[in-house]
Order: sequence, then C-alpha cells, then structure tokens
Amino acid sequence: MLTMNMTYRIYPSADQEAIMLDWLETCRRLYNRCLRDLKTWLNGQKCPIDRCSLKQEYIVPADLPFPSYLEQKRRLTQWKKENLWFKAVHSQVTQDVVKRMHNTWEAFKKRGFGFPRFKKYGQFRSFLFPQFKDNPLTGYQIKLPKIGSVLIELHRPIPEGFVIKQVRVLSRARGTKWYVVITVQSNVEIPNPLPKGRGLGVDIGLENFLTTSDNFAVKPSKFFRDLQSKLKSLQRKVSRKKKRSKNWEKAQIKVAKLHHKIANSRKNFHFQVAHQLCDQGDMIFVEDIDFRVSAKGFLGKSMLDGGFGQFRTILKWVCWKRDKFFAQVDHKYSSQICPNCGTHTGKKPLSQRQHICPECNYQTTRDHAAAEVLLQRGLGSVQEVRMDVAERKLPSNGDLSGSVCDWLDKCRSRNTQE
Ligand SMILES: [Zn+2]
Repeated sequence: MLTMNMTYRIYPSADQEAIMLDWLETCRRLYNRCLRDLKTWLNGQKCPIDRCSLKQEYIVPADLPFPSYLEQKRRLTQWKKENLWFKAVHSQVTQDVVKRMHNTWEAFKKRGFGFPRFKKYGQFRSFLFPQFKDNPLTGYQIKLPKIGSVLIELHRPIPEGFVIKQVRVLSRARGTKWYVVITVQSNVEIPNPLPKGRGLGVDIGLENFLTTSDNFAVKPSKFFRDLQSKLKSLQRKVSRKKKRSKNWEKAQIKVAKLHHKIANSRKNFHFQVAHQLCDQGDMIFVEDIDFRVSAKGFLGKSMLDGGFGQFRTILKWVCWKRDKFFAQVDHKYSSQICPNCGTHTGKKPLSQRQHICPECNYQTTRDHAAAEVLLQRGLGSVQEVRMDVAERKLPSNGDLSGSVCDWLDKCRSRNTQE
C-alpha cells in the first residue's frame, strides 16, 4: 500500500470562504468542549469520594463513563440536536475533530508530555473530510461536501492508479489563503530503495546549511535573511497599532502572509538541496540528531530557523522517489573523531572550524570531517544488508509494472522537480 499527500492551492468564493471560516470556529469550540469534558473527568478522579478535598470537590458522578472517543462521538449526536452550529458542519468532519483530540491525548499518554491544549480563537486551522465515495476532482474544481465546488489549481495531476482517500482543508495567512492536502492511495507495493552505489555522508550545521563527505557545502540561503528583516519591520508596525482595530488586523494579515512566504520558500530550498544531493550519490547518510532538542539548547533559535527536521523529512521522501538509499546514523562524537585514522580528538568548541588530527596530521574543515565520519558509519551499517541483497536477490524496482510504477519511473528519471 502506497500513500502520498499532495498539496494544492484552492480559491473559494467569498461565500465558500465564509462557510469554511465558520466551520473552523465551530470545530475549535467542539475540540475545546471535548477537552473540557476530559479534563473535568480526570480532575474528578483525583479526589476520593469519601473525603472532602480543600482543593477540589468531587463534581463528576462516580458512575460517569470515561469520555472516550466512542463515548464523545455518541454525545456529539446529542450536542448536534441542541446546537445548530454543530449541525451545520459535515458530520464526518465533526467526528474527526473528536478523534483529533483523542489522538493528541493518546500521544500524550504514550510520551508523557504534550497534554492537549485548548485552542484559542484562530488557532484551529484545518479540518478533514475522512472519506470519499467518488472522485471529488472535476478538471479545475474540487467538490467538497456541503461547501460545493471550489476552484483548484491542479499544478500536478494526481498520478494514475491512485485513489483519493481523504481531503484536508487548510487555512493559511489568517484565513486569506486556502489549500487542500489530498491523500491518495494505491495498492501497489513498492519496496524501499536498496543500498547500492556511491555513499554520501551529510553533516548539517549552522555556518553552512550542510556539508557532504565530498566537501560539497551548501550555504544558507541569503534570501531568508532579507525576508527576516522585512518581517521584523512589519511586526514593529503591528505593535504600533491599536490592538484589534481594523488597521491592526490589516497589519497582522501582512505579517501572516510574509510568514507564509518564508515557509514556502524554505520548503522550495529544501527540495532543491535534496535533489542536488540525490544527483551526487546513491546512498545518503544523515545524522540521527533530534533537532528539536538541540534547538532548545546551546544552538538556539537559528537551528529552528533552518528547519533541519523538515529538511531531513523532505530528503527522505526525495530519496525514495529517486530510488536512492536513505539512512540515519548515530551522530554521537561525529565531530570528535578523525575520519582518517579513527583517533578520538576530544571535544572541539563550536568556534573551532578546523579539524587537525594530532596523530596523523589530517587537516580539513570540521564539518567535512564530521560528514566523512557519518559516511563511514553509514557504510558500516549497510554492509550486512548489501551482502543479503547479493545472496538472496531481493526483488528490485525494475521488476515492477503498471501505471504507478510508470509514474515513479518518471519521478526517478527527472532531476530537479519536487
Ligand atoms: Zn587522524
């Protein structure tokens, strides 16, 4: 089973936009209502029934069932009778809101952090149609239940052999720009690319966006820095306006639009770089560092600005499409080991940009040395798999047939397209 998400811009009419904004606000209230019920129930559990607590009273009846997904979905039917707003939204969309709250809650129970939060006004920015009986696309329009046919810019057609499963509607830039994310599925099984050919280690950093084991460096795009300073001046303008006034709202929309533009151009940059790397190697090894954690620590905000986590996800996807092997390797001490002789050279401060080995006198830049170490680790990790491939002759992608594979072949022969 192969599932993909494809994003398209849509252009709703003023009426359609009003409906969608209403839906988002209703969904937000529904989400908060479900969360409030869950919190009330949890609080009720904290205090034993035979005691009087100074902090909180036992306000939930003892036999009240836990507000599970199914239970809340059942209550939703009741709420719809009392509340016309809830009724106005497509029923599967509202059910998905309940599910979304429970997914966050389940994820919290698993990880121990990220308890679901109440959504403030404007913070609920997407809703989902979880299933479609018929193809909603008709040339230049997409047919959304209860909203109607909305103009869509199909800049890339849905590949043949795929069926539309879900459609998520996204509001961006304070509800002034709209997108749909179409989830398509095909039942063709496509194996992951196998390790073969030329390896490439990739070190991700701050001074250079990345450095490869071939000493190929990508500079951070200057474009962002220009946009960032523009963003700062726009934000200053907002702060001078009276809060919630008409002009304040206008200035806020300008800020939101620029944020949107920055995010889009960063994504394009990431796709470009991913394709560049795929041009240069057949197996790509990236460090397994958790960028969210590093961003909190000494590397600070610039780490998040780079969007390295997003880049790694995009790189993995582009590698898959272009039949290149992708793997994450252990990042520990990658900048402290000499790639030439394996000596542990000790911790380098971030300011030290050179690698000079005291044992073998190997000299290069710090980032290049780290990328070389990552490559060696990557090659070591795939050695077993490669022997397996040679012996057992796993099916290769060339054995596939059908329209999905034709589409994939096209992707893999093409060089610099998303
Ligand atoms: Zn050395």
